[in-house]
Amino acid sequence: MKAYQFHPGRVHLVRLATDSDLADSVTAYATEHGIGAASVTFLGAVKHASLRYYDQDEKVYRDFDIDEHLEIVAGVGNISMLDEAPFLHIHAAFADSEGRAFGGHVNAGTIVFATEVTIHELDGQPPVREPDDCTGLTLWGGNLEAE
Ligand code: ZN
Repeated sequence: MKAYQFHPGRVHLVRLATDSDLADSVTAYATEHGIGAASVTFLGAVKHASLRYYDQDEKVYRDFDIDEHLEIVAGVGNISMLDEAPFLHIHAAFADSEGRAFGGHVNAGTIVFATEVTIHELDGQPPVREPDDCTGLTLWGGNLEAE
């Protein structure tokens, strides 16, 4: 196990613009405000969801779209650093008009109807993402302390 420890920093409440790209908008906000470490939650509704699933056997992403109006039941994620820039990693559960749920890793291309984002900034040395041979993913590494 490896871990980073932080003290709480600023909390940002951000309302995203209708028709904006959900992930791109939050990334742009983090970049503009110099947020390198944060936990993120969000809720609201989207017009279209672009999601991905990681195939653990093949070590490739499977992208898929849900082209309908959806509630964001729960959105969670974090911000850390990748290639010296803030990197947003978010997952969400969405529900259709009959309450059926879908979910996954939120890709660029998820279009906001109305979305409220809470960014809990963390004070300290931001986590840095690096390639992980075991999973094939880009995970927190670098300056992590082993425990
Ligand atoms: Zn993910």
